[in-house]
Amino acid sequence: MELLKVPQGEFGLSRYPKRKNELLRAWDAADEYLLTYFYENGPTSKQLSILVINDSFGALATALNKHTITVWTDSWLAEEGIKQNISENKLPNTKLKIVSSIETPEGNYDVVFIKIPKSLSLLEDQLIRIKPLISKSTKIIAAGMVKSIHISTLKLFEKLIGSTKTSLAKKKARLIISTVDENIPLAISPYPKKYTLEGTSYSIVNHANVFSRESLDIGTRFFIQHIPQSGKYKSIIDLGCGNGIVGLLAAEKNPHAVITFTDESFMAVESAKETFALAFDNQRSAQFMTNDCLAGLEKNSADLILNNPPFHQSNAIGDEVAWQMFKQSKDVLKQNGELWVIGNRHLSYHIKLKKIFGNCERVASNKKFVILKSIKR
Ligand code: SAM
Repeated sequence: MELLKVPQGEFGLSRYPKRKNELLRAWDAADEYLLTYFYENGPTSKQLSILVINDSFGALATALNKHTITVWTDSWLAEEGIKQNISENKLPNTKLKIVSSIETPEGNYDVVFIKIPKSLSLLEDQLIRIKPLISKSTKIIAAGMVKSIHISTLKLFEKLIGSTKTSLAKKKARLIISTVDENIPLAISPYPKKYTLEGTSYSIVNHANVFSRESLDIGTRFFIQHIPQSGKYKSIIDLGCGNGIVGLLAAEKNPHAVITFTDESFMAVESAKETFALAFDNQRSAQFMTNDCLAGLEKNSADLILNNPPFHQSNAIGDEVAWQMFKQSKDVLKQNGELWVIGNRHLSYHIKLKKIFGNCERVASNKKFVILKSIKR
């Protein structure tokens, strides 16, 4: 745990899940800038109703705890991180509400804080969906690292919220301050969007924050060409399912299997659920879980796990999530169960898989990708 020192106080914050030898902090300079700016320039009223969008691990929800806070997030990990940090700082959670990205917050807000997300589509969806909740008197303050604020970001604020200015950069972070223009008509979010999966009649549903939401990812395309088929696969997991294409094709090839879709993004799991329901006309059941990798899944329960791991999470490049996915897969697989992984060749996942499973076979490869299989012996 590290100490966030801001004018609102000092708060011990950790990322979620907690990892040994964690190198990354649970907040960034944009959180510090935003909290300091708000302390110096914000309304002085003691009790504000604040909407916090995309708070990563609760730096904002924790420091602003004396107000009534609604956090709106697409991340299950963020939700757990916020609860953990509120509890570890012994703060009350009675005035805190966490709303997932699938729902839209209700009520009126004095202040809206937005941490700029990686995906412009998510920001667009969020700005459209908050517009009916805000008025001229609402303060809109967004914050992000300079590298994640582009002209297109500012244009979105201008188009959807109203006149927008940016602050000077401090520690490579910048603020965006928007004034609500009530003459801008309310818009309808273009999300979720659908595309037809090439060579099939499947309609793939993509909420705003889903991986490869506009078209089929080239790695996923290669993976689905090699999804295995066998009567021995009774329980299959699509780990890190995104819009659920991999699990969908596994279901098609293995008609008697029960498929479980898991992802840490609420929008991913919802997309997978809607994709699957459309594909099977609501006639086939499956399980859908928002989760940290495979945490809490029954040990020795799965015959096949299919995985296209993320290689960056919340802008922090690292392979911790891939490690965690592979290790937990070993626990959750039955004896002789199989983990199939696709990755860019340069990621060298075979080294990790061999270390964890003691075996790793190459199923297929092309210039860019390799599909690997490890068996739990
Ligand atoms: N399976 C999809 C495909 O092949 O098109 C998506 C693969 S995408 C490379 C990786 C997915 O892992 C993303 O949907 C991301 O949200 C998810 N993810 C990232 N961290 C995770 C975690 N800790 N637990 C579960 N899922 C996670």
